[in-house]
Amino acid sequence: MAESTKISWTSATWNVARGCSKVSEGCKNCYMYRDSLDNTRYDAKRVTRTKTVFDNPLKWKEPKLIFTSSLTDVFHEDIFPFIHEVFRIIYLCRNLHIFQMLTKRPENIIPALKKAYEQACELGSDNSDYLNLAVWLEAWLNGHPPSCVWLGVSIESDEYIERGMLLRRIPAHIRFISFEPMLEEITPGRLLLTYVHNCPHTSGACYGNTWACCACELPTPPSEELPPIDWVILGGESGNNQGKYTYRPCQVDWIEQLAYQFQQIGTAVFIKQLGTHLSKELGLTDRHGTDPSEWPEHLQIQDFPAIDHAALLAACGKYEVKSDTK
Ligand code: SF4
Repeated sequence: MAESTKISWTSATWNVARGCSKVSEGCKNCYMYRDSLDNTRYDAKRVTRTKTVFDNPLKWKEPKLIFTSSLTDVFHEDIFPFIHEVFRIIYLCRNLHIFQMLTKRPENIIPALKKAYEQACELGSDNSDYLNLAVWLEAWLNGHPPSCVWLGVSIESDEYIERGMLLRRIPAHIRFISFEPMLEEITPGRLLLTYVHNCPHTSGACYGNTWACCACELPTPPSEELPPIDWVILGGESGNNQGKYTYRPCQVDWIEQLAYQFQQIGTAVFIKQLGTHLSKELGLTDRHGTDPSEWPEHLQIQDFPAIDHAALLAACGKYEVKSDTK
């Protein structure tokens, strides 16, 4: 719940709650569950709103990239009762910070925005903050997302590629995917393709990067054009050697391949860590393989998306940002 963080793709973490329920294999060695073993004051399975740190972003006077949140899933259903308070703080800090909202529950994003909107409307009759928040959320729901929020999903294996496809259909200024922990060689497939064809020659939708139908190969207007993924974070799992929460293997070529494929379509790539398995295999000094200077040179990639508030990010301190404007 810190102003500073060891997570290299952000500059601060803001935990609106603590506790979560596991949804997929990527959750097996969840850091928050592991942490709860040493801290018996909280139940990892129960989502509990934080108290003293809840309004931290309002107190931070310098611009920050803020990971929202590292000890829960910010779009967990149990956050819905106070999701309007989360967005109220984001709204009030919209000109100062950038909020990186990462989830394994993208199907909850639109319902969460709607819930926050309804609650803001209700409270807005006698509070202008909530009234302004309602207007801001309404614009977002109508396809005008705020530039201070980056929306992201975690994908650990091919089975969850659909999370990324759902994300592409949600209004967001920046869309990102965290492929960490990478549990197998991931085939991004549809995530790299722009056009969806619902042509009569195929039983379901087909995807491509041209207007040609993938079955008959004739030019056909696509039924849908999907926005690209702006940023991907890649990494192997970190963990302990013994105990309940260890780590699973990752391979250099899994990271290499995924980084290459996204770079080919212009997505910014950030390799966060090689993970504990590769650290051991390659004999690295850093236990979880988080020090890029120890990696093969071609893997030392830590780019950020090209954005129109690059100066703000640069002001956060440690990053060099691509100069293009989105
Ligand atoms: S969704 Fe995230 S916080 Fe929740 S159990 Fe899974 S890894 Fe942990």
